Amino acid sequence: MKKTDIKKLKRLLKKRFLYGSIILAAILVGFGLSQTSFLTNTTASLQDTKQIKLGSLPIVQPTIKYGFVLDTLNVTEANIEANQFLADILLKHKIDYVTIDQIAKNSKDIYDVTKLRAGKPFMVINQDTTTAADYFIYEPNVYRYVIYNLKNPSDIKVVEREVETEVKTASGTVETSLWNTMVDNGLSYELTAKMEDALAWSIDFYHIAKGDQFKLIYDQEYIDGQKVGIGKVYAAYYKNFENEYYAIHFENEKHQGFFDEKGRPMKKAFLKSPVRFSRISSRYNKRRFHPILKRVKAHLGTDYAAPKGTPILAVADGVVSKRGYGKGNGNYIKIKHDDVHATQYLHMSKFAKGVRKGTHVKQGQTIGYVGSTGLATGPHVCFRFWKNGKQVDHLRQNLPPPDPMPEEDLPRYFEVRDVMVAKLDAIPYKETKQLADNSSPIKTKDP
Ligand SMILES: [Zn+2]
Repeated sequence: MKKTDIKKLKRLLKKRFLYGSIILAAILVGFGLSQTSFLTNTTASLQDTKQIKLGSLPIVQPTIKYGFVLDTLNVTEANIEANQFLADILLKHKIDYVTIDQIAKNSKDIYDVTKLRAGKPFMVINQDTTTAADYFIYEPNVYRYVIYNLKNPSDIKVVEREVETEVKTASGTVETSLWNTMVDNGLSYELTAKMEDALAWSIDFYHIAKGDQFKLIYDQEYIDGQKVGIGKVYAAYYKNFENEYYAIHFENEKHQGFFDEKGRPMKKAFLKSPVRFSRISSRYNKRRFHPILKRVKAHLGTDYAAPKGTPILAVADGVVSKRGYGKGNGNYIKIKHDDVHATQYLHMSKFAKGVRKGTHVKQGQTIGYVGSTGLATGPHVCFRFWKNGKQVDHLRQNLPPPDPMPEEDLPRYFEVRDVMVAKLDAIPYKETKQLADNSSPIKTKDP
C-alpha cells in the first residue's frame, strides 16, 4: 500500500471513529433524557455502554465529567478570575438577572455562590447555545463539586466524590532538616504537618538533629486513581537521640486523639510554639541588646522567624482578651487561657478572619499571620507567655500535664497500641544516602 493510501485509510478510520463516538454519545444522552434529564452518573452510563449492542461501532469511552456525558454538549471550562462573580459568568451564557438572583438566594443553605473563589475551576454546560445555558458547576476542591441547575434555580446540589484510601507507611532519617528529609523521601507538606500533629509538639521540633528517625502509618487518599491527600494518621514514631516517642491514634466514646505508650494524651495543654516550621530567632533574655533600639532592653518573649503570611496558632484554648495595634508590638493578640496563664502574639501582618476581642479560640486555631508590623527587623512572631500577670520564659515552664486516660479504658487502648507498635517497628528505614547515590553518579574531581 502506498503512503497516501495509508493516510486516506487512517483519515477514514478517524472519521468512522468520530461518527461512532458521536452516535454512541447521542445514544447515551438519549438514555439519560428518557429518564429525567441528560444528567447521568458515571457508573450508570458505563453500564449502559455494556448493554448496547455495539455491532460494527468502534468501542468508545464517552467523556464524562461531573456526571455529564460531555461529547455532544457545549462546554465552557475555566477558572474563576479575581473579582469575577457568578453574574459575570452567567450573563455571558444568556442567563438573566432574575434567575441569577434566585440562584444566589437558593444557594445560601446549600453552597452559597458568594463562596466562589478565584483560581477554582468551573464549567458551564449548554445543549443549545442559541438559548440560555443549562448547568453551572463549581469545584471548590477535589473532594466535591456543586451543580447549579440554571433551568430550575431551586435545584442545587453538592456531589461528594468517592474517595478511596490505602494504608501507607513512611520513614526517614533526618539529614539537614525535617522538612528537607520529608521532601527527599517524596513525602508531602501535608504529611509533615500531620506527623507534627500526631506527636503534638511533645517533641521539640526546634531541637531535631541529624540522625533523628521517624516512621508513620497513614491513609493515602485517591479519587479516580489520583493521589489527592493524606487521610487519617494511625501511628507515628520519632527517635531523637536516645529518646523514642510513639503516638498511637485511639478513638472510643470518651477519647479521641493520639496517646503515648502509657495511654497519656500526646496533646498538651500548651503547644510548644505558635508557628509550624519556624525557627527561634531570639530567646527570652532579660539583658538583650535590642537590634533596632541599639541598647540593652529586656526581651520578655521568644521570637519565631517565619515567612510573612505563615499562620500563627493559638497555643491553648482560651478567649481573646485584646486585639490591637501598638507602636512597638505592631498588630497583636492576647489570649486569656485560665486564671493563671495568658499568651500574646506580636508583629502580625493581619488578624485571622472572625478573631476579635471576646472570641473563643481553640488550641491550634489560626488567629493571625506572621508579619513585621511595629518594631521588627523582619517577619517573625514575638511570643509572650504570661503567668500570674508576669511575662516568663515559656520554654522553662513546667506546664500542667494533661489528664491520663482512666484505668478502665487502658486495656482496650493497649490492644490497639500493641498492633500499631509492632507495625511501626516492622517499617524499614529508607537508605536516603544510597538513593541519592543511585540517582546521581558519583562525582569525581578531575586530576
Ligand atoms: Zn520578641
